[in-house]
This record gives sequence, C-alpha cells and structure tokens, in this order.
Amino acid sequence: MYTTTRRIAGGTFMVCSDCGDAVSMNTICKTPLQSATDMLKHMAVHNASRAFAPVVEPLTQPEPEADLSGELLN
Ligand SMILES: [Zn+2]
Repeated sequence: MYTTTRRIAGGTFMVCSDCGDAVSMNTICKTPLQSATDMLKHMAVHNASRAFAPVVEPLTQPEPEADLSGELLN
C-alpha cells in the first residue's frame, strides 16, 4: 500500500508502507500510466507473497519422519 510522504530535500514521494519503496511525484507526473501500472504490480507482489505465506511456511520446518529414521540407523 503506497502512502504519500513529503521529504524536505527531494519533494513528494509515494512510499510503499510494506517495504519502503519510494516513487517520486515527478516520475508519476511524467509517466502516469506506467507509474500506476508499476505501483499496482508492486502491490500485487506483496499481496501474492501474503497469500502464499501459509503454503510456504510448513516446507521450512523439519520433517519428524527424518528424525525417526536417523534413530533407527544408530
Ligand atoms: Zn513494497
């Protein structure tokens, strides 16, 4: 989700509240369609990573079956 912030040195930016990615208002004014598309894609990536999080999480945990077979070998 992008929020608008004003910086003293560089003017006004749209800043992604998820990762801090900043898009300058000058860029948005020069290429409004391209900038809007980029921002929508950027937010879609964040939404997608959230949607897949519950699926990816169990894969990082150790499998209990591996421990059992190791004990049998010893
Ligand atoms: Zn972001």
